[in-house]
Amino acid sequence: MALLFTHAAQLLTLAGPDRARRGAEMRELGVVRDGALLCAGGRILRAGPTDDVGRALPPGLGTIQEIDCRGQLVAPGLCDSHTHLVFAAPRLDDYERRLAGASYQELAAAGGGIRQSVAQVRAAGEDELARGAAARLRAAQGLGTTTLEIKSGYGLELEAERKMLRAAARAAAAAGGEVARTFLGAHTLPAEFAGDRTGYVREVRERMLPALHAGAAPEYGAEFADAFCDPAGFSAAECRAVLETARGLGMKLKLHAEQFAALGGIGLGIELGAVSVDHCDAARPEDAARLARAETVATLAPGANFFLGQPYPPARMLLDAGAAVALASDCNPGTCPILSLPLVMSLACSGMRMSAAEAWTAATINGAAALGRAAVCGSLRSGKRADAAVFAADDYRAIPYFAGHNLCRGVAIAGEWRPNHGMD
Ligand SMILES: [Zn+2]
Repeated sequence: MALLFTHAAQLLTLAGPDRARRGAEMRELGVVRDGALLCAGGRILRAGPTDDVGRALPPGLGTIQEIDCRGQLVAPGLCDSHTHLVFAAPRLDDYERRLAGASYQELAAAGGGIRQSVAQVRAAGEDELARGAAARLRAAQGLGTTTLEIKSGYGLELEAERKMLRAAARAAAAAGGEVARTFLGAHTLPAEFAGDRTGYVREVRERMLPALHAGAAPEYGAEFADAFCDPAGFSAAECRAVLETARGLGMKLKLHAEQFAALGGIGLGIELGAVSVDHCDAARPEDAARLARAETVATLAPGANFFLGQPYPPARMLLDAGAAVALASDCNPGTCPILSLPLVMSLACSGMRMSAAEAWTAATINGAAALGRAAVCGSLRSGKRADAAVFAADDYRAIPYFAGHNLCRGVAIAGEWRPNHGMD
């Protein structure tokens, strides 16, 4: 069956090269008025003015499901390149203590922080983890997201990390949509390795990575490796050791870099050819200059800053230097439960002074690039996977403007239309 969206007030094609956009490119959305999108066989066949797309339809399309999008916006499905979607429970005690002024160290001392999520994930069954992740994945789709990354990193030992990756794969199979899996064994030092950092890094490199990369376990293994380069995580030297091992196994690299402290993670990520360096809160001008010359995408997660009540990353410095910037939710049970990329776009505009067009580019093609998928999704080009999001708005600026509203009417995932109940 073919799927045809017609008469969109604005069709955002994001026309342009299949790579991360930067500088002035980020403000060009390829807007088509009275736009249409034709999908068949899971792929985009045509995107353009309704008159052109509907003319002389190719034979053999079969039944065509037509969705009238008058007064609405049709855009590429949103690409969320950084989430910790597999977890057992929200950390509500941390939330309350943090609001009362507790520091990160005080939360950890009270039994909270990442180690609480680790204990909960270790105790949880795989079925329970998969069900929770699938529910959140469906919720993300209802907000316009069609491609999403999921990290491990609350297991911190081989079988618990395997359980998380398997749960991510099962959630994707249940909910549909494109899910990229990332191994984050170097998230924080597990309690049983207290005082033995070297031993844990060795465990990650010699036992976990060889067992959990996609080449070793195609059904659930990780395509990407990540590490938390932070005083609460691992030093730049430790991250380098982990990521070099991962690269040697054929994995692509990501890095939590410069979130709370400048440990040199951005430079390390660029040097190792990482697809993205994420957070970048403590980025310096020289980091921005290096990013401007690199393919590595700077992925910002202002939802975490908002939720923690902390200053936002220096998006303008990065953008104005020419870095390719993506936006991601960083959805996780401790520092950011936000799953809505439209809300993240609002925060990016109001909190970091990104333009609405830059926020759209950052949440679509640049998010896809941050997952090595710029040739697969993130723009409405013929031949790409037929992932699109329809919003009840006639102007793309309305999506960040209506902060906290869900205007998503539904998404197409590989050419299958999934309307949001109550919006259709
Ligand atoms: Zn993260």
